[in-house]
Amino acid sequence: MPDKPKLVKCLVWDLDNTLWQGTLLEDPEVRLPSEIRDTIVQLDSRGILQSIASKNDYDLAWRRLEDLGVAEYFVHAQIGWGRKSDSVRQIADQLNFALDTIAFIDDLPSERAEVSFRAAEVRCYAAEQALSLASLPEFSPETVTIDARRRRQMYQASFRRDAERESFSGPDEEFLRSLELVMTIKRADEEDLSRVEELTLRTSQMNATGVHYPDEVLRALLGDPAHEVLTVTLTDRFGPHGAVGVLLLDYHRPVWHLKLLATSCRVVSFGAGAVVLNWLIDQAARAGAHLTADFRPTDRNRMMDIAYRFAGFTGDSCQCAAELGPPADHDGVQRLHLIADPRQAPTTMRLISPDLAAERLERSDSMR
Ligand SMILES: [Zn+2]
Repeated sequence: MPDKPKLVKCLVWDLDNTLWQGTLLEDPEVRLPSEIRDTIVQLDSRGILQSIASKNDYDLAWRRLEDLGVAEYFVHAQIGWGRKSDSVRQIADQLNFALDTIAFIDDLPSERAEVSFRAAEVRCYAAEQALSLASLPEFSPETVTIDARRRRQMYQASFRRDAERESFSGPDEEFLRSLELVMTIKRADEEDLSRVEELTLRTSQMNATGVHYPDEVLRALLGDPAHEVLTVTLTDRFGPHGAVGVLLLDYHRPVWHLKLLATSCRVVSFGAGAVVLNWLIDQAARAGAHLTADFRPTDRNRMMDIAYRFAGFTGDSCQCAAELGPPADHDGVQRLHLIADPRQAPTTMRLISPDLAAERLERSDSMR
């Protein structure tokens, strides 16, 4: 079987005689065929972003897109008189996508040739192919998670959030509070793990503990009472951030063993890692357990190291270590340790989470 082509992450549309029929400067009533509208909506629901590279008057074209009811589907539209290859690059830059994940559709062979010449990795399609795009493998992700379905809304929320942050002049903590952040920590199900998996695949930038657990391993632990697989999601008043983290916890009576903690780099500036750690420390304290965490320093997870040290973890040895086997795989993994003490709830966000401590205490009661 041939390899599946690389998925397209953003489709860039030409307007005149591609998205709509006619030339806007000659005919202000250009028509949007309903099949094209359906294609736009369908690609959007698969988590494929869409943008525009059109030689047109910006205000006029954008107003027409609004009147046609499709303007909201497009991010970073490039409408002007510049080269289309520049527009496509601009879109890729702003989304932080590689050019080989961008597709471009235009009715004019000369425009496709120009883009191919200056941005060879971009995949170009003729306007006649518009209605068949949705059936092509490169536009057909195998699984579509809840985060993928609302990817565009998540991007649009992040543009608005960034703009607000730039114009905000108060201290950072005040800005964070103004976002009305809500963090939800919950026991993972299959769908949650797919979201985490997708996050790691798409960004490959999880700010991890340096210890890797393959997804099959995490999936297999979902029903294991000695283990806890938790996912972290974040929302604020601008919209959802989606799944932003994952934890793997292994319960021993005197000590809780944090085998994996990973949070997305996208939310480092919200202090998400520290909030999760503080919550966990508080839970362990109320269950009367020590905490130990596996950590392998890499050149990319210094922030996580700082978060551990700041939370009070040290390299000191403790008797509780006798409960645990040696570090699962590989060398270079440190066992950080902490005698858990009660912690304050976060001041910058609201936290929704299961009460692990109460559940552990209840369970050990019933075992007596
Ligand atoms: Zn200990």
